[in-house]
Amino acid sequence: MNIPLWKNNQTLVAERKPVSVLLGPGVQAQAAYRQAMQAAVDIVIENSCIEKVHGGADVEALRDMLSSMDVFPEMGTGVSKALVDIGVPAVRHALDVGNANTMAHLHCPVALPALAAEVLISATNQSLDSWDQSPFATLVEERVLAWLTAFAGLPETASGSFTSGGSQSNMTALYLASEQHSQAARRKGVIFTSAQAHFSIRKSAAVLGFSSEAVVTVATDQEGRMSASALRQAIDHAEAQGLFPLAVVATAGTTDLGAIDPLNEIADLTLSRGLWLHVDAAYGGGLLFSRHRHLLLGIERADSIALDFHKMLFQPISCGALLLRDGVRFAPLAMKADYLNPEVSVFGNVPNYVESSLQTTRRSDALKVLMTLRSIGRDGLDALICKTLENAVAAAASVQSRDYLQLAQQPSLSTVLFRYVSKQGPKRSDDITLAVRAELFRSGTAALATTVHEGRVHFKLTLLNPNSTPDVIDRVLDAVATMARELENEDVRP
Ligand SMILES: *Cc1c(COP(=O)(O)O)cnc(C)c1O
Repeated sequence: MNIPLWKNNQTLVAERKPVSVLLGPGVQAQAAYRQAMQAAVDIVIENSCIEKVHGGADVEALRDMLSSMDVFPEMGTGVSKALVDIGVPAVRHALDVGNANTMAHLHCPVALPALAAEVLISATNQSLDSWDQSPFATLVEERVLAWLTAFAGLPETASGSFTSGGSQSNMTALYLASEQHSQAARRKGVIFTSAQAHFSIRKSAAVLGFSSEAVVTVATDQEGRMSASALRQAIDHAEAQGLFPLAVVATAGTTDLGAIDPLNEIADLTLSRGLWLHVDAAYGGGLLFSRHRHLLLGIERADSIALDFHKMLFQPISCGALLLRDGVRFAPLAMKADYLNPEVSVFGNVPNYVESSLQTTRRSDALKVLMTLRSIGRDGLDALICKTLENAVAAAASVQSRDYLQLAQQPSLSTVLFRYVSKQGPKRSDDITLAVRAELFRSGTAALATTVHEGRVHFKLTLLNPNSTPDVIDRVLDAVATMARELENEDVRP
C-alpha cells in the first residue's frame, strides 16, 4: 500500500494566502460568513425542484458528475464556486422533502424555526459532552429534557438525553436495561417485542451481544398491535425454559402500520413481572404534541421512551431523544474521562451529558426543538399534526373508492398501506407494484414506498407533510392507476 505524497510540500507554506475560511472575529470573516450563508440559502431557493420530487437524473449520471470532480484540488476554488459546483447539484438532485408528492418514508419536511436554529447550532458548534464546550447549549438540553420528561408524564426522577434518532435511543435503552442485571442473568436474557417492531431492536440486541433467539417475537392482533395475552404466554414460556425475561419493547407507532401497542396492558405485565418496559415511540411519539396524545396513554409508565423529532415533528435530521423514568439508570454510561468529567467537579453544579450518551462529541439538537416549539406553539403544532392524520384518513377513503386498489387497514397514524389488485393474480400484483414505485420515482412524479404486508407487496404512503392534501393524493393514485394499467400488458420485471 502506498499513500500518495503531498506535492510541493516546500512551497505550499510559503504561498499560503490569508483567506477567510474560518468563522471568527473580524469584519472580513463576518462578511465572508454572511455572503456564504446567503449564497447557500439562495441556492436552496433557486434550485429546489417544484414539479418533481427530485432532479430526475439517474444514478449513473450523478455518479459520473461526481467522479469527474476533483475532490481536493491543488488550489481551492473558493466557497462561491464550490457552492455552484457542489451546492447546486446537491439541491437540484436532492429528494425534495418539502414536495407534497414526497410520501415514501418517515422523512419530514422541515420547519423554518428549526432551520434558523440549525444556523446557530452549526455556527456556534457547541458540543454537549462537557459543560465548558457548551455553557448555554448544555443548559438548553437540560431545560428541554426537564420539560419533555414532565410533558411525557414521567416522574421527577426522570432524565433524558438527545440522540441521533430512534436506533440509537433503542440501543441505549436496551443496553441500560441489560446493565440492570448480572452478567449471568444477561446471558440468559430475553427481550420481547412484536413482529411489527423496528429492526433496530434486533440490530441493537445483536450489537449488545444477545443471540438471535434472545429477541422473542410476540404475536400481534389484526391491526398490528402486540397482543398482551401472547406477551404473557411468551414470558411464561421463557421462564419455563430457564431463561431470564429482561425487557419488553412496545412500539408506539409501528413503522409500517402506525400501530400503537396496548401500552397500559403491557405496563401492567412488565410491572408485575419486574421487566424493563421500553416504548419505541420514534414515530408515534409525535402524537404527544397534539390533541390525540390520549392514544399514547400508558407511555408515562415506561422505564424508557424513544422519541424522534425528525419524523412527525418537522425537525431536520438528526434529532431524537431517549427519556428514562429514573435518571440514575444512566449510570452504566458514566465512564470517567479525566479531560471531560473528572471525579472532582471543576465547574460545580453542571450536567455532564457525556454520562448519558453513547456519543461523546454531540450536537446541540435540543436548541432546534426549543426554537420550534416556542415559535409554533401548541396550537400550531397540533394543527400541522392533525392535518397529516386527516390526510391519511382521506387517502384511505380514496383508496377504498377505487376497485383496482385494496386498503390493508384503516390508518392508525399517517401511513396508508394498500395493494394494487391485478387480474393476473397476486404475484403479478407484487411485480406491478414494485415496477410502479420505481417508475414513479424515476420520473420524479412521486416518491411512494412499498413494503410487505401479510406476505404481499403493498404500496405505502407516509404522509408527514400537511401539504399532501386529498387532491394531491388523488392525483398520485391516478398516476398509480395509469402506470399499473400500462404495465398489465407488459413483461414486468422489477
Ligand atoms: C424510524 C424508526 C426507528 C429508527 O429511528 P432512526 O431515527 O431512523 O434511527 C425506530 N423505531 C421506529 C418505530 C421507527 O419508526
